[in-house]
Parts: sequence; structure tokens; C-alpha cells
Amino acid sequence: MNKSDTEKMLGMLDFLGYEQVFELKNKDSADLFIVNTCSIRQLSEDKAFSTIGLWGKWKRTRPEIKIAFCGCVAQQNGESVFKRMPYVDLVMGTHNINEFPDLIKRIEAGEKVCAAGDAPIDEKDFEIKRAKGTNAWITITEGCDNFCTYCVVPYTRGRERSRNPEVIIKECKDVLAQGFKEITLLGQNVDSYGKKGDFTDWNLARLLREINALEGQFRIRFTTSYPTDITDELIDTVIESDKICECFHIPMQSGSSEVLKKMNRRYDKETYCKIVKKIREKVKDVTITSDFIAGFPGETSAQFQETLDVMKELELDYSNTAAYSPREITVAAKWEELFLSDEVKSERLVRLNNQTKENCLKSNQKYIGRELEVLVDSFDNHKGKNINTGRTRNNKIVHIEHDKDIVGEFVNVKITGAKTWYLKGELC
Ligand code: SAM
Ligand code: SF4
Repeated sequence: MNKSDTEKMLGMLDFLGYEQVFELKNKDSADLFIVNTCSIRQLSEDKAFSTIGLWGKWKRTRPEIKIAFCGCVAQQNGESVFKRMPYVDLVMGTHNINEFPDLIKRIEAGEKVCAAGDAPIDEKDFEIKRAKGTNAWITITEGCDNFCTYCVVPYTRGRERSRNPEVIIKECKDVLAQGFKEITLLGQNVDSYGKKGDFTDWNLARLLREINALEGQFRIRFTTSYPTDITDELIDTVIESDKICECFHIPMQSGSSEVLKKMNRRYDKETYCKIVKKIREKVKDVTITSDFIAGFPGETSAQFQETLDVMKELELDYSNTAAYSPREITVAAKWEELFLSDEVKSERLVRLNNQTKENCLKSNQKYIGRELEVLVDSFDNHKGKNINTGRTRNNKIVHIEHDKDIVGEFVNVKITGAKTWYLKGELC
């Protein structure tokens, strides 16, 4: 979501005549410094503050530079950012992104500005400056209404809202015309697309079908799915549509029904398992990935063991993992007496990561000897390596030894080997 917001901001800056400085060694030619912050865990917030602290030092020798502090941490902290970091010129929250060009003009004129309001501003038609590559991120829903007890997103990104389907489809057409080969529909909970607001006759399945009908050879992905919002219609749409890739990212967070209840997730272990098994039965070669939190307040070792067991039982292909990080404002952050020590959380995180590695390797080994379609997205020819890297439809990374740069091509590859994080293959 941050990457996608940054691309929107870069498009607006382009419109204002700014150019991006790519290398740190050229920092002295920059007039404007922007950090687009994430606050999902304490570490990302700390990184944002230390980055801007460094820029503050640079400003002592170049007082004319402007510094902008944007994104989720800005949304949460508002005006108080100026107290902590008086050298900041602009504080802009996640809801104010469409005002960005006007805000930049105001700081150029010497004002100090804070825009971290509540109301989402109507979209303006600025071109998005997308990162070079094969994949384009397209936001379909903003915000979240789920209020999981550990998560700061509903407070930093606001209530859930769906973007206009016509605007989304136009964006898809634009990126295909620009040569992108893959579209990833993005949202905190993409499965609830259309449920609230002005587009209730739409849902994710319908949106996917409309995009699938667009002309050209390309792939469609979508993330993230909330387990109980995945409908049979969505699963059938994935099966029936040639461009929609066979992968679902369905965060489980914990394998213990008691912990899930305390997390305010709207499912228990059995319900999650049923959903995963149904998708595996129906969708051939599907990849199912997840997110897990280690050491949620009060999590017992038996409850944690349930998480390791369910990861193994369901053969989840990959999982993002994190130690629980208390986020101010959230409900669980108030349960201090239940907090686990950093040592316990770290030890559980290592075990989650080890289980993830075991699952990944097992999942990858299934494909040895198979022929798979790969979309190549990078080429590395440093030190005579000549490796093209791409992804299969079900999102497995494949390394292909080949001396020509074939980035952007769809190729058929015979899988010859499997490592934990990637497959090895040869062009057919
Ligand atoms: N909406 C998605 C869902 O519910 O599955 C997840 C979006 S959240 C931005 C990404 C992941 O960050 C979550 O799935 C969760 O595992 C992790 N996360 C969120 N808050 C966290 C916290 N306080 N501590 C550790 N991990 C956290
Ligand atoms: Fe956060 Fe996802 Fe829960 Fe929403 S559904 S509160 S984004 S973890």
C-alpha cells in the first residue's frame, strides 16, 4: 500500500516539475526530501524517525531544503511531529494524498503545513509514476473495518471504502497500454470489495472477470484476502478465468481458536482449515500463503504449538511472520500484564520461520520435473552469472540460466531443482 501511495506521489511531483534523485551520493542536488512512513510495527516507525533525524542534520547546512513526513505515522502523530522534529515542513497523513500537489506548493512558499485529517478527499486525475517492472499495483479498497485487536490499520487508513470500478478498469487499461504484464489488485481486505458504499452491485469476482476480459497477454493477482470473505463465486472465478493466477494470500495470524478470538478475528481454527482445504481441492496447483504473529499477549506455549501444527498440516506454501509489536491506540496494547518477554517472542519467531522454511522447500520440491509458465521480471548478468528471474502463475520464484535478457517475456520452463526460496529451471 505504501509503495502504491509513493507511486501516486511521484506522479504528482512529476506534474509539478520535480525529478527523482536516485542515488544517495547525489543528495545535495535534492530540494525536497520525503519519507512515506509505515506504522504496522514499532521497527518501521523507528526507522522513519531516524531517517528524518538524519535529514534534519543535513538541513543545518542547507536550510533551503524542504522535508515532508507522510504516511501512517504522520496520520497518527499529526501536529505533534513538528514538536519532535521542528525542521519538518510538511506532515501529510494517508487521507490527504490527493491534496499533495497543493501542499507542496504551500511549503515551497515558506509555510509549515500539517494535513492529517479524517475525511478522504476525492480522487484527482494525476498520472501515477509507476516503478519500472512487469507488475503494476492497483488499489481497489482503502482502509479497514475489522479492528483486529493488535492492528493499527483502521486508525491510520480509516474506514473501509471501495474505489470506483470504472476508474479501476481504466487504470488497468492504462497500465497494459504502458506495457505492464501483471496487475495486482490491492487492499487490506480485497474480498470485501463493493460491500459498502456506492458500488454494492459489484464484488471482487465481478471486478476480476471484467479485468480478465481486457485484451492482451497478462496476469492478474489480488491481495490480501480475509479468510471468511472468500466466496465460492470468487474461487470459481479464479478457476474459470485464464488470466487470474492460482494463488491466495490468506493471513491466519494464529492456529489457536482462543488466540484468534482475542485477536478479534472472525473465524476459528476449524473454519480457516475448511476454507484452505476447499481451495486446495478446487484450484489445481494453487499456492496458499499466510501471515502469523508470534507471541500475541497471553499466548501460551500450547497455543503457539497449535500454530506450528496447523502450518504443517495445511502445508501453507509461505508465511510472513512477525513478533507481536504493541501499537498505541489498539486494544491489545492495553493488555500489558499479558505481554510476553522479547526473548519468548524472538524464540517463537525463529520457530515460525523454521516451519515456514520447511513448508517452502516441501512446496517447491513438488514442481521438480514439471513444465511451468514463467513471467520473467529481472536479469542479472553481474560477474558472468546470466540469471533471468521470474514467477510462475502460482507465484513461485524461478531462476533460469540464460545469457539473453528476456525480461517481460512469458516463457515455458522445465523445473530442474528446488531450493527453499526458489526453483531452478531451463527454458523449454
Ligand atoms: N488485512 C490483512 C489481514 O488481515 O490479513 C493484513 C494487513 S497487515 C497490514 C499485515 C500483517 O501485519 C498482518 O497480517 C499481521 O500479521 C501483521 N501485523 C499487524 N499488526 C501487527 C502487530 N501489532 N504486531 C505484529 N504484526 C502485526
Ligand atoms: Fe489490520 Fe488486516 Fe485486521 Fe484490518 S483485517 S485490522 S488490516 S490485520
